[in-house]
Parts: sequence; structure tokens; C-alpha cells
Amino acid sequence: MATSARVVPVPIVVSAPSGTGKTTVCRAVVGADPKLEFSISHTTRTARPGERDGVDYHFVDEEAFLALVKDERFVEHAEYNGKLYGTSHEAIDGPIARGCDVLLEIEVQGAAQIRERREDARFVFLVPPSLATLEARLRGRGTDASEVIAKRLAIAGNELSAVSGFDYVVINDHLEDAIAAVREIVAAERSGQRGDAVARHGRETALARGAGALAELPSD
Ligand code: 5GP
Repeated sequence: MATSARVVPVPIVVSAPSGTGKTTVCRAVVGADPKLEFSISHTTRTARPGERDGVDYHFVDEEAFLALVKDERFVEHAEYNGKLYGTSHEAIDGPIARGCDVLLEIEVQGAAQIRERREDARFVFLVPPSLATLEARLRGRGTDASEVIAKRLAIAGNELSAVSGFDYVVINDHLEDAIAAVREIVAAERSGQRGDAVARHGRETALARGAGALAELPSD
């Protein structure tokens, strides 16, 4: 295969079970890279303190969201925790038209839809080092009752089994290493020279190592 520099920017999808530290990693990766923009999603959940409409999300009510679905404005959309989330075509194609790669931080159902619809997209799965660390992180937030944590852990187990749809797997054990790994993947996809990144972070390599919490998945 030719290894000439790629001219078209790429959408990079990053998914992870809740509590894996995905937001921290994604913010650091985008913040350090002027040619990488966040895809700004739409959601029906209310803004948290400090979040800005049009920057963190486009905050819309359910009626407006469903009208956008009907108009086929979304590449993907999904329900998460009782709220709707969706990526518009514009959220991906806007940054690409500006010559930037675009990072989508979305949950696994949305990632699967993108995989069906955008051949140009690449998929990174962030994995906690173990289910025990994930549980400790969820408890450490101090916001959820035990039964909520148990439910989130069960969801996380399901989400982990989505790994087969991802090109790359990164263990979020040490934050700086995880950030460096995702940056390496972005750089590899940007240059079109993917060999080293695939060898180091490709799904097969990770599975062969029994990576992190993936090692705890029941085999089928
Ligand atoms: P939060 O409400 O904490 O910002 O996000 C909840 C979950 O929804 C996270 O896993 C986040 O990555 C995911 N999410 C954010 N935007 C989108 C989107 O546009 N589509 C999908 N499918 N998930 C999203």
C-alpha cells in the first residue's frame, strides 16, 4: 500500500465505559492539538454548571431533538441514562471542512452506528485497568448510591463487550500514557502511516495481551 500523506481529515471516535476517564483523556488530547476539534453533540439533558450551549453541547428539548432526527440531521443518536444524545452531520463535516480532524466522544451504541455510516471514521476504545478500579472510581465520585453503582458496573460490563467494533484499544491505567497513546493514534491516522500505532495499540494486540478489564470478560 502507498504511504503518501493523507489529504482528507479523519473522524476519530473515542468510547469507553462510564467511569473510565474518557472526558479527561479526550480534553487533554484535543487541547494539545490545534488541528483536532471536538464534535459538538446535541443532547436533551440539562447543562451542568460551567457547561456552555454550542460549546460543550447543543442543549435542546426532546421535541427539537426528535425534529432533527426526522430531518435526518444526525449521523447517529442514542439514549443514555434516559436522555437523548446525537452527532449531527455538521458536527463532523464542519471541522473536516476546516481541514481539521474531529474527535467524537460518544457512547458505544452511537459508535456502532458511526461504524455503519462513516467509512472514514476510526475507533478507539478506552478501557479501565480492571473492573475493580472502575468500581473504585465510580465510588470515588461520591455521587451515586450503591445500587446505582451496581447498575453502572453492569452497564460497563456490557459496554466492554463492544470491543470488537473498535480499531484501537487503550488502557487508561496511567493518565499520561493514555493521553500519549490516543495522540499517537491521531497522528498515525493523520499521516496515513498507521503501522506502528496499529502494532502498539491495535485491538488484536490489546486482546492478545488480555488488556485491562477486558481480561475479566466472560469468554463466549
Ligand atoms: P454526559 O451526559 O456525561 O456528558 O454524557 C453521557 C454519555 O453520552 C457519555 O458516554 C458521552 O460520551 C455520551 N455522548 C455524548 N455525546 C454523544 C453523542 O452525540 N452520541 C452518543 N451516542 N453518545 C454521546
